[in-house]
Amino acid sequence: MQLILRYVKPYFSRLAGGMTCKFFGTIMDLFLPWLLAYVLDEIVPLKDAGQVYLYGGAMLLCSFFAWSGNIIANRVAASVARDATRRIRHDLFGKITRLTSREIDRFTIPSLISRMTTDTFYIYRMIGMIQRIGIRAPILLIGGIIVTMTLDSALSALLVAMLPFMGGIVWFISRRGVPLYGALQKQCDNLTRIVRENLNGIRIIKALSKTEDEKQRFARVNETVAASETKAASVMAVNSPTMQFLLNMGLVLVVFVGAKRVDAGLTGAGNIIAFLSYFTIILNAMLTITRILTMYSKALASSRRVEEVLNGAEEKRDGEEYLPDAQAPHVEFDHVTFSYNKKTPDVQDISFSLKKGQRLGILGPTGAGKSTLIKLLLRLYDVDEGAIRIGGTDVKDIPLETLRRMFGIVFQNDAIFRGTIGENIRLGREISVEEMEAAIADAQAAFVSEKGGLEGEVVSRGQNFSGGQQQRLLLSRALAGNPDILILDDAASALDFKTEANLRAALKKGYGDTTVITIAQRISAIMHSDVILVLEDGQPMGVGTHEELMESCPLYREIAQLQLGGEEE
Ligand code: ADP
Repeated sequence: MQLILRYVKPYFSRLAGGMTCKFFGTIMDLFLPWLLAYVLDEIVPLKDAGQVYLYGGAMLLCSFFAWSGNIIANRVAASVARDATRRIRHDLFGKITRLTSREIDRFTIPSLISRMTTDTFYIYRMIGMIQRIGIRAPILLIGGIIVTMTLDSALSALLVAMLPFMGGIVWFISRRGVPLYGALQKQCDNLTRIVRENLNGIRIIKALSKTEDEKQRFARVNETVAASETKAASVMAVNSPTMQFLLNMGLVLVVFVGAKRVDAGLTGAGNIIAFLSYFTIILNAMLTITRILTMYSKALASSRRVEEVLNGAEEKRDGEEYLPDAQAPHVEFDHVTFSYNKKTPDVQDISFSLKKGQRLGILGPTGAGKSTLIKLLLRLYDVDEGAIRIGGTDVKDIPLETLRRMFGIVFQNDAIFRGTIGENIRLGREISVEEMEAAIADAQAAFVSEKGGLEGEVVSRGQNFSGGQQQRLLLSRALAGNPDILILDDAASALDFKTEANLRAALKKGYGDTTVITIAQRISAIMHSDVILVLEDGQPMGVGTHEELMESCPLYREIAQLQLGGEEE
């Protein structure tokens, strides 16, 4: 709740203005039945048409004030809710971009998405609602009781006697119903996750004829969500009808007792009519309060989920100023060990060092830990043991912005955004057209001119380019920044042999000072590297040049014989 208060605070004066309008509007609403009773019991018996018109006019005026006050207040409420939620979403998004990768793993992406969308929507709705009816309902409830006391205290006693029943329902709802919504939101996360996985992998699912399995998997989660919804809704379903029932019972009682009192001359008929109105107003206010409680509880669950993210651990951006030591190796892994789950290591005791401009090839089957090494180098995760140094400085001591700016990266399935080719290559950096064109040429992305040059259109996720074209687009992006360290994650896998050779030549020629790290499963992509690291199950099986490894590393020799055939022998 503190979260919501913190975000609403800047709009406090607007909020106070809106609430004042609401307050007076509501008082007018409350005043109207009283005025009606007065007209019926005191003015009508005078049989003076002028007086009746006068009071009729006053009633019209009251309704007008109530109407306009409520409209203004509701508009203000919507604007405060909109602005506060916009800021929550803004901060939340910013925070997500700064979260450590470990935190992102912990929350999971689908959960982050629903926190960003569904949860902020619940918060939006609650902020608006508290202002619209959160203040109105208590005024109607308390004010209504006070006014009825002055009208007819005996009838008021009837009303007060009913309140504990109402309170009981409110208590039941908040104890039983509210926790159910927390569970429901968790399951919705699950649903989002499955939909997301499915849609991302829709082609492969179709290709492998897994559609039926996936349908069933989805159906199971869908069932669970529906069951939770049913459970929560069936508790909540008790609420309104029970309140309505009590209301109707109360009205019957008021008419019954009221008629006897009018007969006995204890009270006027106008009073009874007004009392009926107040009775409805008061019980409706109670009903509204239970509705607010439901929504409040949903929003509370949501604000906790948002707060969790806002309190999540951030990447440490500080670090001393980076002063590279020209004597030290450019990139150095020193007995690096790391585990995602902190139980079994995913990479273990990795050591190698590269001079500026050298090329490293990392070879290994999927799941060997190749990408993990890159993530550690980029400091998406911190090593558990050992150290990674760039220019002699531990990456933990390099300011994060400086560190990340050193890299040009081509990941597999990397992000291509909707926009133009130029925008995708520049990616918000200050890069001139000439530099971009040079990068395109070096990346062997000659197809760009056929696609409309730098202004050419890119649809979402680059779907209007083939796999190989996408890779070269990403490569152009990586090269355009003139990086110190270039990382190619199987970047050449979709390139034909000739293009790959041209690319290697262009890299050698134009990027002599760039240290290049290539990840590959194919030996041909890395056999010319200065250093080759062979990985299997996170263990280093060998470090050296092609020739050295052919001598010393049985695994490398085996892969070479498999992939290159006899040509090396
Ligand atoms: P490669 O790039 O060689 O295919 P990875 O470095 O991606 O291999 O994966 C190495 C191991 O680490 C695998 O067993 C994989 O399951 C695990 N792993 C990768 N990313 C994560 C993650 N975010 N959370 C937990 N385990 C992970």
